[in-house]
Amino acid sequence: MDSLDQFAKAKLVGLESRSLRRRLTPTRSLEGAWVERDGRRMLSFSSNDYLGLSHHPKVIQVAADAALAYGAGAGASRLVTGDHPLLAALEAKLAALKGTEACCLFGSGYLANTGLIPSLVGEGDLVLIDALAHACLWAGAKLSGARVIPFPHNDLEALEQRLIDHRGQARHALIATDGVFSMDGDLAPLDCLSILATAHDAWLLADDAHGLGVVGEGRGSAAAFPGAQVPLQMGTLSKALGSYGGYVCASQPVVDLLKTRARTLIYSTALPASAPAAALAALEIMAAEPERVAAPVERARQFTRALNLPRAMSAIVPVVIGEADAALACSRALADQGLLVVAIRPPTVPAGTARLRVAFTADHTPADVDRLAAAIAPMLQA
Ligand SMILES: *Cc1c(COP(=O)(O)O)cnc(C)c1O
Repeated sequence: MDSLDQFAKAKLVGLESRSLRRRLTPTRSLEGAWVERDGRRMLSFSSNDYLGLSHHPKVIQVAADAALAYGAGAGASRLVTGDHPLLAALEAKLAALKGTEACCLFGSGYLANTGLIPSLVGEGDLVLIDALAHACLWAGAKLSGARVIPFPHNDLEALEQRLIDHRGQARHALIATDGVFSMDGDLAPLDCLSILATAHDAWLLADDAHGLGVVGEGRGSAAAFPGAQVPLQMGTLSKALGSYGGYVCASQPVVDLLKTRARTLIYSTALPASAPAAALAALEIMAAEPERVAAPVERARQFTRALNLPRAMSAIVPVVIGEADAALACSRALADQGLLVVAIRPPTVPAGTARLRVAFTADHTPADVDRLAAAIAPMLQA
């Protein structure tokens, strides 16, 4: 076993020397956007709980009721005995929200993408993927065995050239992108992507993990581009919906295929009933409270106005610092003021673009935003 531990230790030393080692920090969420970490109360700007619904009393109550009634775990995969009726009820609601025929829930967003892409493409096929797309889109693309060709972030001309050069040799082609980019907060131009996809008979997949509940009046990134045809809309229950799980909204035949072929659905245990119960309650609150849905982007825009940054398009604002150690130092300086903004380093973001990733939620007050902007302003001048 010596070589095993030596391997692990040498890897860690290398990462440490480049400020790329990551560590877990136990964190408890308190009320609103407040957390307890390292024995301190801090105001967090590093949560994807955009609508504050993970701790909404009604969402918690229905999750608790479902656990009491149906148990803590599902006991088996959906195709065996784990297909609780609440899953189908949530699938119907999500499909209606997204304007698709059907929906398939997965154990998480990561499992949705790694199940979806290999169910649709394989050897002899082509995946064109935005260079900044989320790690699980890359994982699904690689797992599929299709040829994977990245295109520069949101670069429509470069994508078109790749379609012209490579589409002809492939049987099927898929274009994969985040709808809202997780580390940059900008939107994919889904209207133009959809035109290119149609022209070249490629299937457009938009990952809406950060769009649902936040953009397109809460319906997500595809809804933010009226007229865009996005046949594959995946996302998560784990961010704005405050629960846990992933989904793919698509046509009935595609969803039927996923339910019989997606390996991450077939060979992984179903979500516990508390997860779809919580997400259903969250969708009801979303529909009833448009001001809650509008809040994250409003706060983000207040912040970008205050610091003269490009206008926020989502709840996420990147404050790019550069080197990993400098980003860590900024994050530590904010922590000293009771503000939690986690530094994001390579390989999550490209080398030289380590950053503070600021995420705003409906729990933040305008005064919270002012306080953060005042704390970050001197770091931008440095
Ligand atoms: C968080 C995230 C996922 C994964 O969703 P989980 O439900 O947390 O597994 C997928 N795509 C993007 C863009 C994300 O930010």
